[in-house]
Parts: sequence; structure tokens; C-alpha cells
Amino acid sequence: MKKIIHDYTREELSKEIKPAFRAKQIYSWIYHKHSNSFEEMANLPKLMRSELENNFELNPLECVSKQESQDGSIKYLFRLYDGHTVEAVLLLMREAQYHEDGTLKHHRRYTVCISSQVGCKVGCAFCLTAKGGFIRNLSSGEIVAQVLEIYKDQNIPSNHRVNLVYMGMGEPLDNLENVAKAVKIFSDEDGMSISPNRQTISTSGLSSKIEKLGKMDLGINLAISLHAVDDELRERLMPINKAYNIASIMEAVRNFPINQRKKVLFEYLVIKDVNDDIKSAKKLVKLLNGIKAKVNLIYFNPYLGTNFKRPEAEDMRKFQEYLLAKGVLCTIRESKGLDISAACGQLREQKLSEGVGK
Ligand code: SAH
Ligand code: SF4
Repeated sequence: MKKIIHDYTREELSKEIKPAFRAKQIYSWIYHKHSNSFEEMANLPKLMRSELENNFELNPLECVSKQESQDGSIKYLFRLYDGHTVEAVLLLMREAQYHEDGTLKHHRRYTVCISSQVGCKVGCAFCLTAKGGFIRNLSSGEIVAQVLEIYKDQNIPSNHRVNLVYMGMGEPLDNLENVAKAVKIFSDEDGMSISPNRQTISTSGLSSKIEKLGKMDLGINLAISLHAVDDELRERLMPINKAYNIASIMEAVRNFPINQRKKVLFEYLVIKDVNDDIKSAKKLVKLLNGIKAKVNLIYFNPYLGTNFKRPEAEDMRKFQEYLLAKGVLCTIRESKGLDISAACGQLREQKLSEGVGK
């Protein structure tokens, strides 16, 4: 099998392909010019192009399904070399900005949500990705290529500011080595130039891996999927809590190196009649005491076969207001692309039932 070229940092590539400056040229063709073949890399010698062609894979992902939501978000399903599939989502946010003469212009802000594994071992009760169990880790290149394919599909210029969130399928910290390498490949200034401080790793709370990630000092942002404020409920929702309880997560967060101007994001998936009460909000405020935190309330996104329910907008608002009144920054995440079965794993599941992927 050919080696996926996106698995290589520029440094690694420069060791494979001599002389070293060729790696920079190849990076530019891949990540700036969005080349689809080695053949078109005109400033490389012909022989080198054919050697690259023989040894490296330039298109490791095949887009097998694409769904556009009314809010402009686009969900992609990619097939990997072995037939398994993963999802990635392009989230569009329009931001009002003004021209110098005072007239309004709209600026498109992109966030790409990427997968780190096929399936997931963590087994959260509310998560569709968990239902199919764990299949395998993605390589760094398979993570990187998701974003690259979306750039190509949407003609996003390589210098456009894009944010990345590792919130698709899988537990990024269970694939820490490949994810950390992907962070570096994304941030290479001769490549996509997506700075680590525009990348957010979301974790279900593997405390020991949070510590390990912290020691790597990559400069990335951290998001914790908390979802419950006492261990008993959290264990029911997220069995991983038996191994790493809430206190251990908080301890790991306190030790995590965070950019001075940034906050740790706490995701709180709100499920009707499970964790949407003000008592939980109160406990949450206590728990976050002394931590530079921001809370993101997420509407539970129901799917066929689940007993959990989407919360009432009114209860979401009350929960948010309570936190804000106590001085805790809190936003509500509208389930982006609800109409395109957005919560992780749903497009894959649907396509599996139609016989696409495995
Ligand atoms: N494994 C990591 C990252 C991927 S999951 C983690 O758990 O943080 C990304 C987010 O999607 C998590 O916060 C998860 O709780 C949330 N999620 C899972 N199932 C969901 C659903 N049905 N509706 C809304 N959000 C969901
Ligand atoms: Fe895995 Fe995250 Fe889903 Fe939990 S919520 S099963 S950690 S992907």
C-alpha cells in the first residue's frame, strides 16, 4: 500500500525526499495550491513526480456523501482506504463586519469539525458513534486530509482563517500521538498554517492523557465534555467516569497550560429531565470555581432508538441565565445542522444502513 503523504510533517518529508527544499515545494502544492495529482507539480523534476506517484497516496479520502443543512453547515462522509467511513462537518458562521466607509460586509467564519477515530471505545450512553464500538485510530494524515478535502470542495483559499475542533467521531486523547502530530502538520507555516490556538481538542475526560497533552505544550485549546456534575450520574452517562472521576478531571484541567487570553471550554450536553435542572447549574458553578472556564450548553440531538430527549428551550435559557448571573461565561450551542442529522455518527449510521461504507 502507498504511504499517505499527509502523514508526514515537512521535516519528515524532507528526510524522505532529497534535497530538503523539495519538501517545502511539495507542501505548497498540497496545502496551498490544493493539487490533486503529483503530475501537476510543475517545479519538480519529472522523475521525482513519477516516484512520488508510485510511492505516495495524495487522495486518501473519498467523499461518499455530502449533506447541506439549511443553516449552511455541510456534513461530509469520507471513505478510508479500508472501506470504513468517518464524518467531518464544515460549520459556517456569518460574522457582521464593516468596511472602512461604514458599510456592512459579511465575513464568513469557518469551523471544521473533524474525526479522530473510526468509532469510539468510550461508550457514552447518549452518543451514536459509541453504538458501533471501536474500529481503529485514524492516522495523522487521515485527520489532516479531512480538512484539506473540505477546502478543496468549497474552494476555500489556503490563507482563509479556519478554526478546527476535534469533536467529530472518536476520542482524540485515545489517539493522542496521531492527533498531536496532526496539530503540528495543520500549523506548519509552509502548509495550512492553522495555528494551534485555533485548534480545540475535545475530550470525554481521560485525566492522565490530559496531563500528557499538557506536557506536550502544543498551545492548543482544551474542551471537556463534562455533561454531569456528580459522579453517579456521570458514570451512567459516561462509563469512563469510573476510571477518571470528575475530581481527577478538574485536577488535570488546573494543571493544563492555557494561553493567557483563553479559557477551558466545558461542554454540557443538556438532556431533558436528566441534567437540565437548576440544582445542577448550581453545582456546576461550584465545580468551576477558580478555573478560567467557559460553558457551552448543547442541545441533546435525538436519534432513532434513544430514550433521551431534547431539552426545552426554556430550561436551557434558565440554566444559562443562572450561570451568567454567577459570572460564568455561558453560550448555548444550537445543534448546527439539526436537519442533516448532525450529531456525530448519524450520517455514517444512515449510510451504513444503505450499504455505503462498512
Ligand atoms: N470524544 C470527544 C470528542 C467527540 S464527541 C468528546 O466526547 O468530547 C463531541 C461532542 O459531541 C461531545 O461533547 C459529545 O458529548 C457530543 N455529542 C455526542 N452525542 C451527541 C448527541 N446525540 N447530541 C448532541 N451532542 C452529542
Ligand atoms: Fe466517544 Fe465522545 Fe461519543 Fe463519548 S461522546 S462515545 S467519548 S465520541
